[in-house]
Amino acid sequence: MASGAPCSVSRHLVVRLLIGMVHLARGGVYTVALDHGTVVQASLRGRLKLEERTGDQVVIGDRVRVAEAGDASFVIEEVLPRVTSIVRSRSGGRSVKVLVANADRLLVVVSTARPKPRRHLIDHLLVAGEYAGVTPVVVLNKMDLEGAAAAAAEMESVYASAGYDVAKTSALTGEGLEVLAEHVCGGISALAGPSGVGKSSLINALEPGQKLRTGELSGKGGGGRHTTVTSRLIRMQCGGFVADTPGFSEVGVWGVRQEELGQCFPEFRSRASACRFRRCSHLHEPDCKVLEAVNAGEIDSRRFEAYRFLYEEAGA
Ligand code: GDP
Ligand code: ZN
Repeated sequence: MASGAPCSVSRHLVVRLLIGMVHLARGGVYTVALDHGTVVQASLRGRLKLEERTGDQVVIGDRVRVAEAGDASFVIEEVLPRVTSIVRSRSGGRSVKVLVANADRLLVVVSTARPKPRRHLIDHLLVAGEYAGVTPVVVLNKMDLEGAAAAAAEMESVYASAGYDVAKTSALTGEGLEVLAEHVCGGISALAGPSGVGKSSLINALEPGQKLRTGELSGKGGGGRHTTVTSRLIRMQCGGFVADTPGFSEVGVWGVRQEELGQCFPEFRSRASACRFRRCSHLHEPDCKVLEAVNAGEIDSRRFEAYRFLYEEAGA
């Protein structure tokens, strides 16, 4: 403090500029890890509470500005703009909730069998990840099961050629965990996929003791709608955070407009600029490079069917 400014002034300035990330949200109380290292509990400024009612909740992963409210309590004054938002939609899109903000990745976890992979659901979740602005990764789990190699080879050829990273894992034998770690040990990751595919087991296999509650809101918690839903970021020892909140299996494509959908399929995206029409729907136009690639077998026909289905849904 070369200028000899009084301590109280500089302390005041520091207090005014507390920026951090929401690590845990529970019943209106938020745990915020401040950038300079301290962890504080904060509530919402009244104005933000009003906004929350209109659907703009403060969620895990949010970057927030907090202020010290004199008596050592903290309030969240402002939510900084989100870089990405993974949303869940229910009731056909009428109710939408942001599950995690600023996630870097959405791991779409699929099991080679038990439960049997549902291609349509995978495509749906991948589109949701693309639309959220995060990088989707396909994780094929239960590689130890009989017949897994063949099932995985088929899915790997579809999704790797579409442009996705594909990791093949077994939470049971440890296969592929080092590849999974590359995706989980940095930034914020969310795991989506149907119940029973091994999301929780994979996180536990990477770091024993870490528990992921992947059940639905009214499910494993047992308390039904009156249970306070806690969402948190699990801090992995290896670096990185995993979002732990129910609802990722309901991640939806709410809000995607028909003309945006092609952008959510990487293998369409790379070809669309060569279509004759700038706003080509890739469904019937002449000189459509996407349709040509589908007909030539370069784009998987079931991926195209998923596109067509979602396109019609988006127009409904
Ligand atoms: P989640 O609902 O996606 O979190 O799935 P869980 O982690 O709860 O796993 C569901 C069931 O699959 C459990 O009985 C696990 O023991 C089993 N499981 C998880 N991963 C594997 C795996 O890689 N191989 C086999 N054979 N079973 C697994
Ligand atoms: Zn086209």
